[in-house]
Amino acid sequence: MEKYDFFKKDGVRPSEEQRRLTKLFYRNAGEIYARFDEWKDIDKFYFIPLYMEMTYSCGWVAEIAPDPVWLGSFVRCTLEHPELFQFKCPKCGKTVYPYRYVGSPLSGRVDLEGRCDCGWEGFEMVSGWRQRAIALRDQIVKDNISYARHKLFHLVHAETTIEHLLQWMCQ
Ligand SMILES: [Zn+2]
Repeated sequence: MEKYDFFKKDGVRPSEEQRRLTKLFYRNAGEIYARFDEWKDIDKFYFIPLYMEMTYSCGWVAEIAPDPVWLGSFVRCTLEHPELFQFKCPKCGKTVYPYRYVGSPLSGRVDLEGRCDCGWEGFEMVSGWRQRAIALRDQIVKDNISYARHKLFHLVHAETTIEHLLQWMCQ
């Protein structure tokens, strides 16, 4: 038995607003990664939902992880698995921390989508779709308990978004 089911469930597509906020993460990912230690212990930031649609259709539609993926889980996963998710910028050689992973179950390929400070932006193609999907899903499972606790204490609050995190980082 597989530990996880990678088949994409028929779900609701992200709304315009959810997509806009997720793109805001893509554009500011460098800064958000760099300051992980400052916001990682603040639950409302850690559990910002991202709608990255990390799917790949190739005969069947698979997904690395179903939306939404929490910002903290995603960033932590990239930082803690450099061999799986980080790569060298093809232009300047600096380490790139991708803001999205898109996988292909048939070819086994993964596109790590990222941007470098030097201006390079694009995909790094790597092999090993399944181990990356498992790494991210394992991180989400680990974070589930603190998420449940967070929800319990913050039921009344409106959802925190990337915009709030960016404002907080600018202070
Ligand atoms: Zn570069």
